[in-house]
Amino acid sequence: MVGLAGSGSVVGLDVGGTLLKAVAVGPEGGVTARVRQPTAAGDGAGALMERVVALLVGMRDELLARGEVLRAVGLAVPGVIDEEAGVVRFAANLGWRDVEVTSFVARRLGVPVYLGHDVRSGALAEGVLGAARGVDDFLFLPIGTGIAAALVLGGQVRAGPRGSAGELGHLVVEPGGPPCRCGARGCLETLASASALARRYQEQVPGSTLEAPAVAVLAAQRDTVALAVWSSAVGSLGQVLAGVQSLVDLDLVVVGGGLANAERLLADLEGAIAARLPWQVAPRLTTAALGDEAGSLGAALLARAGGGAVRLGSAAALS
Ligand SMILES: [Zn+2]
Repeated sequence: MVGLAGSGSVVGLDVGGTLLKAVAVGPEGGVTARVRQPTAAGDGAGALMERVVALLVGMRDELLARGEVLRAVGLAVPGVIDEEAGVVRFAANLGWRDVEVTSFVARRLGVPVYLGHDVRSGALAEGVLGAARGVDDFLFLPIGTGIAAALVLGGQVRAGPRGSAGELGHLVVEPGGPPCRCGARGCLETLASASALARRYQEQVPGSTLEAPAVAVLAAQRDTVALAVWSSAVGSLGQVLAGVQSLVDLDLVVVGGGLANAERLLADLEGAIAARLPWQVAPRLTTAALGDEAGSLGAALLARAGGGAVRLGSAAALS
């Protein structure tokens, strides 16, 4: 893959709340190994650090056995991340607080280790290798259990001075609305995430166990309850995306996560955005190309580039 080529091998590891997902990438840019295992964050912060190291040591030794040298490691981590300092400030799902993860892992592995935010790493990968190749201004918007976003402007993933750029899921769109896990009420993700769609449908149809994709299918068939829940969710997303578009004029929104392939999502969302932008040009919408491997591929790109704020064009030219 262009952008992932370079001397030696690199490993990108996505430290997710449920799974550790790693890819090894060879000098030609192709993925040469994939490892997945449960995160088991419940075992404690220290145990998880050791599990991360053990996974990486295993991959390094496997590469060595094939005569390949591990040059660097990239880690993609959710939460509040200080990418430059290599410190995880707070990752609720991992139980990590002020963890100096890069120096810890680098000491044990003897190679440079770089840290990225999971969604921003995913955006980097979609921009260099995936659905946003060749696009310099786009939003990566994974919609699943929650809603996250990463903004790319001028070929640069924006972290913001406090690393909190992209927290669209916690924008309050319905004051006093459903309670959110962040402590606020009426956040976008309490109204329009995949889990919110399922919950809101199930609240109105007692005994139902339908998940979001099935609600989307029912909505497309004009089922009254499903359509109301669906329209409200898509309307909230459209409102937020119209605001983003008014401010930064994007070419593209890459929708990822579990809801990305739901029936009619892109078409309905396109309509909801257009209805809220009377004269501005709306962004194109597309589904993400890299699935749940975007984070680990983005971490591999970080490792290949030697960390820092990677520009999409420069990453693509690394080969
Ligand atoms: Zn919230």
